[in-house]
Amino acid sequence: MTVHDHDRSDDGASIDEGGAPMKVVVVGAGYAGLAAALELADAGIDVEVLEAADRVGGRVWSREHDSVVIDHGGQWVGPTQTELLGLAARFGCETFRSYDEGRHVELWPGGVAEPFTSDEHVDGFGAAEYAGAEARLDAMAGTIDLDDPLGTPELSDWDATTFESWIRDEISDEQARDRMRLVLRGVWACEPRDVSLFHVLFYIRSAGGLGQLLGTLDCAQDSRFVDGAQAPARAVAAHLDDRVRLGLRVRGIAHGPDGVTVRTSDGDIVADRVVVTGSTAAQARIVFDPPLPAARRRWVARSPMGDVAKVHAVYPTPFWREAGLSGQLVAYDGSPVSYTFDNSPPDGSRGVIAAFVYGDAYRAWARLGEPERRAAILAPLVAALGPEAGRPDDVLATCWPDDELAEGAYAAVPTPGTWIEHGANGWRSPAGRVSFAGTEQSARWNGYIDGAIRSGREAARAIMQATRPRPHRLDHEETT
Ligand SMILES: Cc1cc2nc3c(=O)[nH]c(=O)nc-3n(C[C@H](O)[C@H](O)[C@H](O)COP(=O)(O)OP(=O)(O)OC[C@H]3O[C@@H](n4cnc5c(N)ncnc54)[C@H](O)[C@@H]3O)c2cc1C
Repeated sequence: MTVHDHDRSDDGASIDEGGAPMKVVVVGAGYAGLAAALELADAGIDVEVLEAADRVGGRVWSREHDSVVIDHGGQWVGPTQTELLGLAARFGCETFRSYDEGRHVELWPGGVAEPFTSDEHVDGFGAAEYAGAEARLDAMAGTIDLDDPLGTPELSDWDATTFESWIRDEISDEQARDRMRLVLRGVWACEPRDVSLFHVLFYIRSAGGLGQLLGTLDCAQDSRFVDGAQAPARAVAAHLDDRVRLGLRVRGIAHGPDGVTVRTSDGDIVADRVVVTGSTAAQARIVFDPPLPAARRRWVARSPMGDVAKVHAVYPTPFWREAGLSGQLVAYDGSPVSYTFDNSPPDGSRGVIAAFVYGDAYRAWARLGEPERRAAILAPLVAALGPEAGRPDDVLATCWPDDELAEGAYAAVPTPGTWIEHGANGWRSPAGRVSFAGTEQSARWNGYIDGAIRSGREAARAIMQATRPRPHRLDHEETT
């Protein structure tokens, strides 16, 4: 095994059970894998990151299109996402605030375009009853201790309930129900019938409240990265240098008496410890020998990925700003688009709208031919922003369920019963020398880039803690 010279500390570096310097292999160069590797490299530990794709970043993917950086995956960062902000600061990656000026628009059935602003909330279409339900969700989520989610007194009731059942039991007005359903799709990228109420509450708690998840300024959608959200990942990879290997797919992981053999598309690599990251779909494709404990296999199998397409319409200018519009749209009118945001570059030199398509609407939209897909995206934009919205220079769609490695996004959504039955041992307990990291394994900002970084760092620290050299205890005879 190779020991790299750079970043190696001679003091206190972890050792394997035989007393030799330890080698850790990290599977995946998304934010969790890179954060784990950085933590280990900072401590002088020999680490190698194996990434199947030809780029780092995973579910965060920024690509320049016609001189504009487009974030096809994760993009925003909020003020309480301190791990991501810290990483960005360390590597000099700049952020700028999201465009949140002017009127947003809600599209209601029957062709109604209802304007509202961030300060004056919309009135009508079930808004009043919805607000009460949102407050109840926050109160319920507040009873969850993130350090002990399985100790939640109402766990067995809440995890036995789908979010759709809760909506039907707790909200009487059909329009308020539709409001809540759209929120669920927008934050969890699935249908309310598919996800456990407990998981929704845990996720709310993990972000610090539903307002944090939904809001723009001072909340999860507060800021974006000048060079795209992939910039910090690229910077970490550059720092780790040849410790990150691209185009290397991990197919299997076998425990042996002296360590772990990682079977890749380009041969075997032997390590003392392995950190596995990636979506639940990606982790399910790795063959473990011996098989992983049943709890982990069940957790992964019962936590499918969400379904979301992120579609960008690129215009010569952000023309809606001159009309006093923010570019933010919420559609209850049955269009495939649920939400849009102004994703223009920081200097506003081009106009970019990002539109999100989720769940059932995604599946129906994805079956359409190319021209129909484009028309279905542009129709609500024209209704909200005016006829110019129908004449973009380009429309770029990224369908995350078709991404060969992630197979969906934003994150995994545990189905009812998964937390109760497999949470204790399946969520993030290591299996022998293999640890699991990734945003799905984070108690804070679960589902977000920040959560991915936290989980990677925590996995790395746990390995260092478990393998730290300990002073030999002198036995009784030697001390007397
Ligand atoms: C459209 C979209 C919008 C989002 N918006 C936001 C947002 O605004 N803010 C936010 O914070 N989060 C957002 N997210 C979520 C965020 O992107 C993820 O939570 C985060 O990137 C997950 O990081 P991760 O390291 O846990 O997993 P991943 O990013 O999935 O990284 C796992 C890596 O492992 C690699 N891999 C998988 N299998 C193998 C294998 N067998 N061998 C080798 N390598 C393998 C993958 O290629 C990948 O690079 C969004 C996601 C999407 C898709």
